[in-house]
Amino acid sequence: MITEIHTERYTIRGRSLGGMYTGLHVPELDALFDAGTVLRSGCAARNLFLSHAHVDHIGALPALLGQRGLTGVQQPLRVFAPTEVAVELNDALAGFGRLHRWPLEVEAIGMRPGDEHKVRADMWVRAFQTFHPVPALGFQFFRRVQKLREEYKGLPGHEIGQLRKSGADIFDVAEHLELAYATDTLPEVLRHTPSIMRSRVAIIECTFLDERKPLSKARAGCHIHLDELLKYAPEFENEALVLMHFSQLYKPAEVREILAARLPPELHARTHPLAPEAGPWWD
Ligand SMILES: [Zn+2]
Ligand SMILES: [Zn+2]
Repeated sequence: MITEIHTERYTIRGRSLGGMYTGLHVPELDALFDAGTVLRSGCAARNLFLSHAHVDHIGALPALLGQRGLTGVQQPLRVFAPTEVAVELNDALAGFGRLHRWPLEVEAIGMRPGDEHKVRADMWVRAFQTFHPVPALGFQFFRRVQKLREEYKGLPGHEIGQLRKSGADIFDVAEHLELAYATDTLPEVLRHTPSIMRSRVAIIECTFLDERKPLSKARAGCHIHLDELLKYAPEFENEALVLMHFSQLYKPAEVREILAARLPPELHARTHPLAPEAGPWWD
């Protein structure tokens, strides 16, 4: 069983357990996030956004490509990844292809912090820096929307049309922040890229939740501890905050209990742990 979270505009489906596996599918964006586990129902998606190349985030990529091949999808999977990872990924998949006696190919697109890519007519993605000991990125999805400038708002439609035809600069461009994905990172990512906290949906790791992992050790591994996430609580404006990549130190039910006890109630009401409702982790 996978976990499925429904927000007003996006569905987040997947499995994530710190150090073990992380793989998500957001069908409305035709996007997978990390490939540490295969989501059979998402293997025909067009795009994969790889945060970094630790095996709990990339280890299931050959299996994903194998399953994708059986769906009849012709286009290669587009893999957006840190530039260093994109280069090495092609080498690694060439080796896997030889083992498999059938090519395993992707369209690897290297990104650096600040790079933007149009993923469909009305949606862009921008990479941002995360803080982990290997090349790593987060991804911010946004829409660019044209807005008539204040001084032109009272004009009749035909005059606006004429101005437009004449090439006059009558629009401002606004960014609507849709979804942000940040995993395997120190919490400084929130200070560095505060737009994460203003996105409609934010998907963030919160690997450690209480004193069973001292904060110093969480920081040494470059992961977020709830002690530090709580300092940012008043700044989260998201409609939905999805927390994931929990350590197996905690059982799924404990994750829910700890979040209920420690998050401010107003934020807790908007927070969705990517964890089973009860019972064990996905095995
Ligand atoms: Zn991880
Ligand atoms: Zn990692």
